[in-house]
Amino acid sequence: MAKIQVDDEKCISCGDCVVACSSGLFVAKSEKIRVLDEEYCNLCGHCVALCPTEAITIQEIDQREFPALPGGLIVPPETLATFLRSRRSCKVFAEKEVPRQVLEK
Ligand code: SF4
Ligand code: SF4
Repeated sequence: MAKIQVDDEKCISCGDCVVACSSGLFVAKSEKIRVLDEEYCNLCGHCVALCPTEAITIQEIDQREFPALPGGLIVPPETLATFLRSRRSCKVFAEKEVPRQVLEK
C-alpha cells in the first residue's frame, strides 16, 4: 500500500493539496491528482487537514487527529491574542521521569 493515497471517487480536483504541500508532492494530471516522490513527505499533515472531501490518506497519519472544527466556531480576537501570547516553549527540564502515556499523547 502506498504511503499517500488520493481517493479519485472523493476528490473534487479543487487543487488545494497541490498548493498547500510544501514538498510539492501533489500534481494535477488529466484532472486527477497524483502523488510524486512520496518518500519526501515530512508528515506535516497539511494535505489531510485541508482536503474538503477527506480524499487523502497517509499511512502514518491517524485521520482522527484532524477533527473538523465545530460549525460557527468564532474565537474572539482578544481570546486568540491572549492564547498566542501565553504560548511558551519549555527549555528547562526537570529531573523527573515523564510517564510513557503522557509522552505519547
Ligand atoms: S485537496 Fe482533496 S479534493 Fe482537493 S484536489 Fe486535493 S485530494 Fe482532491
Ligand atoms: S503531509 Fe505534508 S509533506 Fe506530506 S504530502 Fe501532505 S502536505 Fe505534503
